[in-house]
Amino acid sequence: MELLKQRIDAEGIVLNNRVLKVDGFLNHQIDPKLFVQIGKEIAKQFEGRGIERIVTIEASGIAIALQVAIELDVPLVFARKKKSILMTEDVYHSVVYSYTKEENYDVTISKKFLPSGEKVLIIDDFLASGEAAMGLAKLVEGAGDTVEGIAIVIEKSFQPGRERLEKAGYDVHSLVRIARFENDRCIYVEDAK
Ligand code: 5GP
Repeated sequence: MELLKQRIDAEGIVLNNRVLKVDGFLNHQIDPKLFVQIGKEIAKQFEGRGIERIVTIEASGIAIALQVAIELDVPLVFARKKKSILMTEDVYHSVVYSYTKEENYDVTISKKFLPSGEKVLIIDDFLASGEAAMGLAKLVEGAGDTVEGIAIVIEKSFQPGRERLEKAGYDVHSLVRIARFENDRCIYVEDAK
């Protein structure tokens, strides 16, 4: 997605050659018009696939997923993050390791908002190790639903997330794929030599 690459190039900050900070338009301040475009792009990829529900994770996934949900005209539910592993009867849960925060957290979705037998599209802002997406996929499957696809805004293709998710059989679509960081700039997969 060209528009998104331009914003990353103009405003993204590479931290420790590992993490891309895009707080100016994606993770803190949000650019509403860019998000509308992001929603349309993701929806285009999954049109006609019979998606019945969108699942994402708080906080940054929500605004992205909302745009897609409007385009596909389906309900959206977001997983909540909790530090302690709380087993209660009425939630589905999954444990995810965060490499940015270096801790395990529990993600939960109330059973009443995740009916079984549906085709679900999972959405997240970044794909790195694939932990968050894998955790959501397991949670969705635990509810008796099918993961129809995983849509990501920014994929760091030098990290193992895509490979891990594809090996597990998931269909992964990313709007932007970063092959590597070089001199604090992003080199995209299609431009990488
Ligand atoms: P994974 O679980 O695939 O390792 O990482 C995905 C999650 O970690 C995303 O939901 C995102 O919140 C965070 N994350 C991973 N890498 C980055 C990054 O380079 N920049 C930002 N802003 N978040 C990241």
